[in-house]
Amino acid sequence: MLSDHKAVGIPSFAEKIADVGIDVLKPVSVEVFQINVGKMCNQVCKHCHVDAGPDRKEIMTRETMQLCLNALKNPDIKIVDLTGGAPEMNPEFRWFVEELSKLGKKIIVRCNLTIILANPKYHDLPEFFKKHKINVVSSLPSFTARRTDAQRGDGVFEKSVKALQMLNAVGYGKEGTGLKLDLVYNPSGAYLPDDQVVLQQEYERKLKETYNIVFNELFAITNLPVSRFLDYLIRSENYEDYMNELTNAFNPMAAAGVMCRSMVSVGWDGYLYDCDFNQMLELKLTNGAPDHVRDFDYEKVMNREIIINQHCFGCTAGAGSSCGGTTTN
Ligand code: SF4
Ligand code: SF4
Repeated sequence: MLSDHKAVGIPSFAEKIADVGIDVLKPVSVEVFQINVGKMCNQVCKHCHVDAGPDRKEIMTRETMQLCLNALKNPDIKIVDLTGGAPEMNPEFRWFVEELSKLGKKIIVRCNLTIILANPKYHDLPEFFKKHKINVVSSLPSFTARRTDAQRGDGVFEKSVKALQMLNAVGYGKEGTGLKLDLVYNPSGAYLPDDQVVLQQEYERKLKETYNIVFNELFAITNLPVSRFLDYLIRSENYEDYMNELTNAFNPMAAAGVMCRSMVSVGWDGYLYDCDFNQMLELKLTNGAPDHVRDFDYEKVMNREIIINQHCFGCTAGAGSSCGGTTTN
């Protein structure tokens, strides 16, 4: 359905980037290793592009983590970005973080916040994150309970606020601590995010005033037409309009800076992808690049051709979108 661009009256993504001089999308580095350590999650968010939830059984084993550690000995890979599901639910999560720390990599954990309160065994996560100087990145689609709970489930906002306060209490988000706490905003419907700078100012004001919460940066992310959000678009009959909106907002500068040009994404079973979205669409690395982390070869991965399709319009609309927010500000 995604591939059939003519059905929704838009050009193909390949045609669109060729118009701005990009015939083949190639990496400029492999600075980031984004690793999905499993699809299990304590939440079932409406727009989850991983289709994660408590019933998902796909979990990265220690053996596959070891294969990642072997690949990560390459000093050109600087950042390890751990995602899920809730990455902390993987029983090997803490062992893996400790091994990554020994390699001296910058570590990002995509923490959904509520996991910290989900079970007493997770209550010390803020201290654990602090010990390893982890950059915590957490979704909070709104500073109101109504909008957050509508997207992420009943009671999620209240628990997220408590978790943010626990992170602040150990120094996260506070000046001079070096403990970085970033929030992620994504729209609750079929529209593009507002300006990231304006949103950050609004979040800063509201969270400080009402809950005494501080954080470092806010990332505004566009919902890509993949998995649960694609289902939502189709169900709500917004698919055609949304694809047209993304295409009309195509930004050539954002096309040059898409995140897949500086990363590789590892699935829970060790398979390699250009990004998390290609992972969910099961578009493994191909064209001479290894498709599994056991065969990781930096040069071959650097020389790969990135696999694109219509969902890529989500990364190039407006100010651009990546796991680190806009790409052109
Ligand atoms: S917390 Fe994250 S991984 Fe879990 S269901 Fe929500 S969006 Fe998906
Ligand atoms: S969806 Fe993935 S492959 Fe497509 S432009 Fe975005 S990051 Fe690159």
